[in-house]
Amino acid sequence: METLQNEKGQISIHTENIFPIIKKFLYSDHEIFLRELVSNAVDATQKLRQLSSFGEFGGELGDLKVTVSLDEEAKTITVSDNGIGMTAEEIKKYINQIAFSGASDFLEKYKDKTDDKGQIIGHFGLGFYSAFMVASTVEIVSKSYRDGAEAVRWTCDGSTEFEISPAERSERGTDIILHIASDSEEFLNKGRLQSILDKYARFLPVPVEFDGKTVNNTSPIWTKAPSELTDEDYKNFYRELYPMSEEPLFWIHLNVDYPFNLTGILYFPRIKNELRFQREKIQLYSRQVFITDEVKDVVPDFLMMLHGVIDSPDIPLNVSRSFLQADANVKKINGYITRKVADKLNDLFNADRKAFEEKFDDIGLFIKYGILSDDKFWEKARNFVLLKNTEGEFATLDEYQEKVQANQTDKNDMVVLLYTSDRKQQDAYIESARRRGYDVLQMDNIIDAHFINALEQKLEKVHFVRVDADTLDKLIDKGLNNESVLSEDDQKKLKEVFDQVLDNKMLNVSVEAMPTDELPVTITMPEFMRRMKDMSALSGESSFYGNFPATYNVAVNANHPLTAKILTETDADTQKSLVKQVYDLALLSQNMLTGADLTAFVRRTVATL
Ligand code: ADP
Ligand code: MG
Repeated sequence: METLQNEKGQISIHTENIFPIIKKFLYSDHEIFLRELVSNAVDATQKLRQLSSFGEFGGELGDLKVTVSLDEEAKTITVSDNGIGMTAEEIKKYINQIAFSGASDFLEKYKDKTDDKGQIIGHFGLGFYSAFMVASTVEIVSKSYRDGAEAVRWTCDGSTEFEISPAERSERGTDIILHIASDSEEFLNKGRLQSILDKYARFLPVPVEFDGKTVNNTSPIWTKAPSELTDEDYKNFYRELYPMSEEPLFWIHLNVDYPFNLTGILYFPRIKNELRFQREKIQLYSRQVFITDEVKDVVPDFLMMLHGVIDSPDIPLNVSRSFLQADANVKKINGYITRKVADKLNDLFNADRKAFEEKFDDIGLFIKYGILSDDKFWEKARNFVLLKNTEGEFATLDEYQEKVQANQTDKNDMVVLLYTSDRKQQDAYIESARRRGYDVLQMDNIIDAHFINALEQKLEKVHFVRVDADTLDKLIDKGLNNESVLSEDDQKKLKEVFDQVLDNKMLNVSVEAMPTDELPVTITMPEFMRRMKDMSALSGESSFYGNFPATYNVAVNANHPLTAKILTETDADTQKSLVKQVYDLALLSQNMLTGADLTAFVRRTVATL
């Protein structure tokens, strides 16, 4: 056996093996080839513009543009530009060497001169080869801008061999001619190309022509300074992005260049109380090239419901999802967007409280979702998130606690915030709470169940109780006991009568001393149990509490005149129907009386009239 020596070496790559892999797996989506070739053509014109501004190109720039053309008969797609072109030497250098980017080379060479590093799209030196995802043969016909340059033709059939020869071309610029492979003929279709260009080239900075028309808006508003723009500009751009949508509520113009580059506009749409399926999504761009509308990871989850565009050259684009999540820039971008949104909401709140309140039904969902998912957001949002009561009055968290503290603090020093999740159904309970001088919050947004839990954890000494969770005295237990007109014996007897008549193990009957103007019987589901049930229903998963049969508390008001009547009734049948009647009334006020029980109730009632 040989002994192993220390050794260093170089890993070798065989181009014949790796080339097919690059072609096949570079991008999962084959239509990307057009984005890459058009981006290269845009770069070629931008470079020439820059050279001209540096004084390195003295000729006429002319109308710099990119043209895409389709020849269905010849089965070719051609991307042409009148940019810098390439000499034979440059083709050998930039095209024949995979992963050697002419764009990076250009930026490196002119890094002292160029003030706008944002203009050149290319970076990795791989994009050109995406042409082979759809083409069996690719031809380049190019003529450099340099004086006396000769036109050159490069051809490659997707193997690792290429051919270079002199060509005919009178004007400066480049044609990339794709001979579409038989398995990619779907791209030899005008409508298909049009839609790919609409998607990826919509806001490229140089005019792109297809089928005799320009497909892009070369200066979308996110590239401009906010001071140059009017409200109308923002609204018009929103319509341009989402022609079918209602006008947005407001927007945020994002603009940073340190520690990462990012521009964009985020719009707050009108969404009211629904997490509707989002057709309109935030679009992610890199230097005005559309990348994706799957912005998960880049945009905080709770802001996915926003609309608009984000443009950042610092987001890694050709890498996998898991990498994106771990990327430090992406994390920073996420944090930045969250901060900007919180600041904007705070500004709106401070600038015009009334207008903010009017919008709150629309933006409350974002704010609450943000509070649930992001502590940094909560730190800012705690000052402007609003609670709304049944009278339609808004208050901040501090204002509201201050308001109800005196009347709604229980014997344990907890401030009890009463709420309703359904005004119609819980009307009887709301009414009696309000008669007692309590305030009732309206918490009927789909996110409110979670929001309530979060607030209880974040705020000290605050507890939420749904207005129908208990009898009025116990909702906010101040430790004061009402006198009962019934003796303890009578109370016991009364409970027995109810237990017997109702005959239901899921009902938990108790006799309580309540004010005489309360209903004779009140049915409640304990707050804890109801929340567990609500949460498991929301999450859609079955759980112990979700499956647990509902138990209810049935509180009999010892001080109600009808109760005394039941107790003293000697005729068993009359007593039974009285019990049924007051119980059904309680069910009725809770919207729980249905079917045969309801019919029987109506008959019984009519008979007594
Ligand atoms: P990248 O764009 O990331 O640099 P590509 O593989 O897309 O990489 O392109 C490689 C290089 O080929 C470019 O950087 C550029 O130098 C050159 N190139 C490609 N297309 C053109 C074109 N239409 N005009 C001039 N040069 C081009
Ligand atoms: Mg490129």
